[in-house]
Amino acid sequence: MTCKHINRRHFLAGTIAGTSLIALHPFSARAAANQAHLRIMETTDLHVHVYPYDYYSDKPVDTVGLARTATLIKQVRDEATNSMLIDNGDFLQGNPMGDYIAYERGMKDGDMHPIIMAMNTLGFEASTLGNHEFNYGLDFLMKSVAGAEFPVVSANVVLERGAAPRDDKTLLKPWVIVDKTVTDGSGTDHAIRIGLIGFVPPQIMNWDRRHLEGNVSTRDIVEAAQSFVPVMKEAGADIIIALSHSGIAAGQGDGLENASLQLAGVDGIDAILTGHQHLVFPSDRFEGLAGVDTNAGTLQGKPAVMGGFWGSHMGLLDLMLERDGNSWRIAAHTVQARPIAQRNKDRSITPLVESQQAVLDSVAQIHKETLEYIRRPVGKTTAPLYSYFALVADDPSVQIVSAAQSWYIRDMMKGTPYESLPILSAAAPFKAGGRGGPEYFTDVPAGAIAIKNVADLYLYPNTARAVKVTGAQLKNWLERSAGMFNQVTPGQQDQVLLNPDFPSYNFDVIDGVTYGIDLSQPSKYAPKGDLINPDANRITDLEYEGKPVTPDQEFIIATNNYRAGGGGHFPGADGSTTVFEAPDTNRDVIVRYIVEKGTINPTADDNWHFVPLPGTSVLFDTGPKAINYLADLKGLKIEPAGDGPDGFARFRIDL
Ligand code: MN
Ligand code: MG
Repeated sequence: MTCKHINRRHFLAGTIAGTSLIALHPFSARAAANQAHLRIMETTDLHVHVYPYDYYSDKPVDTVGLARTATLIKQVRDEATNSMLIDNGDFLQGNPMGDYIAYERGMKDGDMHPIIMAMNTLGFEASTLGNHEFNYGLDFLMKSVAGAEFPVVSANVVLERGAAPRDDKTLLKPWVIVDKTVTDGSGTDHAIRIGLIGFVPPQIMNWDRRHLEGNVSTRDIVEAAQSFVPVMKEAGADIIIALSHSGIAAGQGDGLENASLQLAGVDGIDAILTGHQHLVFPSDRFEGLAGVDTNAGTLQGKPAVMGGFWGSHMGLLDLMLERDGNSWRIAAHTVQARPIAQRNKDRSITPLVESQQAVLDSVAQIHKETLEYIRRPVGKTTAPLYSYFALVADDPSVQIVSAAQSWYIRDMMKGTPYESLPILSAAAPFKAGGRGGPEYFTDVPAGAIAIKNVADLYLYPNTARAVKVTGAQLKNWLERSAGMFNQVTPGQQDQVLLNPDFPSYNFDVIDGVTYGIDLSQPSKYAPKGDLINPDANRITDLEYEGKPVTPDQEFIIATNNYRAGGGGHFPGADGSTTVFEAPDTNRDVIVRYIVEKGTINPTADDNWHFVPLPGTSVLFDTGPKAINYLADLKGLKIEPAGDGPDGFARFRIDL
């Protein structure tokens, strides 16, 4: 073989076919005397996922779990002469097992964190800190990593700053050198010193300010690398691998969140483990970025990998090492990310590997306790949470999401230029009948509320975002939402209210302002978001704190990554207006809100209404259990109107 890079598709073929038979890597066959084939395996963004289980829906799932990734790890170890297993951070937080340990069981001196128990069981050789390691505070973090039987390195979280990063007193060891013995192609053992250095997005100072301010500070990732790498070389590192809990993106300047591509430009770094974005590298997702080769799996010519998230993939760097005088260099490399499951054309999932029993066993007791935790009350709601009327009136299932989002974004905006702007929140009903059927609604009675109820309130694993919009954009955002409804002829009876081509997840209610929707007007936007009636105005009386919103007024809207990134083509939400990309999922935000508040009051505040059209009525279909809550709808003249199709109940609204 003469080419330096071997097409990764060749290696993926075996796994995509669903077999566990993976051909011996050609480097193993090819390695000569003074050449050694070293396989570096990466997990990243595990977020406490050990079992293949979705604790929100309380069901097994085939797309997550270190117990599954463990089988991919075992396959490599079984065939490899030389291998190394490294984690890339974000292991302590991100599912109800993590919340259970943090909020319920706690971490005392000597306690073992379940993800650390699973990682010890698998024999990880190193890890680094991700941004989420800081979510529960420094004390929790330090007690958790104390149980690790492997070094955890982090070079840019600083306790005491020195003149340069290399002089800093860091929270954890900035780097380590692992002494390994590798066997070369002729069967001779050699010593090799592998340097590992870790990095986290400096944005943790903002995301976890309440835990970190006054206790630690951060350094720019590239700046820290440039300072430390020569120190590692002086200390005898033969090759250096960066554990970069940071994504791959274009950009320059100080303090980049996703700095792995820029980090690859640092002299002396030989290979990079990346993460944080919850994506897969190599993959087409990164095609077209300058300096990125998605075929070779390189960043600025250096091998790099990103192993998905929640155990979805194992990243694999195959390095052909060659003796180079007294040291080693990487003579050739291949890169791949092996999945634990495949998504079929019909969207079904086929698992590609079984779980490793020893890994399941290592956390079996905590798994059991987590199941009890998600099923028992963690807070109280003073009002029932239901979505039966979410499309016709302000509604508690949307109100609670909005309340949690505004609470979270308000905190995140502190200390930013947006702190003083009004904070609004956009949320849409996800479970609102439609194609999901007459039972497809949220319906949680007043009283105790459990973690598994939160899945019901927020179906998607979106992450929170803040966008900055003008009053004009805000109004058009609501005009876009109001496409939910058919145009109504004043004076006519029993007109069909809902446009069946408009999905409920695009019916954003914006809390923090008040407004009316005039159904006698045509919709300004088509169901897919095209502007069709530029002069139409369904939104009336749009007010903030009792005063009309002016077109040039500025607002922050709390929303999710789907909407902020252009999902649904909403005016004012095309990616360009995003001012804050949160590391937290909207679901985690809701859980945190409920746990911290203890008692929540999700009663709708009736901040929007239909504009009265005397002598006009509309019909709307919802779940039959809606009848139980009819009395709650104070602002609406509504009455039962018999049965709808397919088990739905029909209601009449006098506008
Ligand atoms: Mn993560
Ligand atoms: Mg409201």
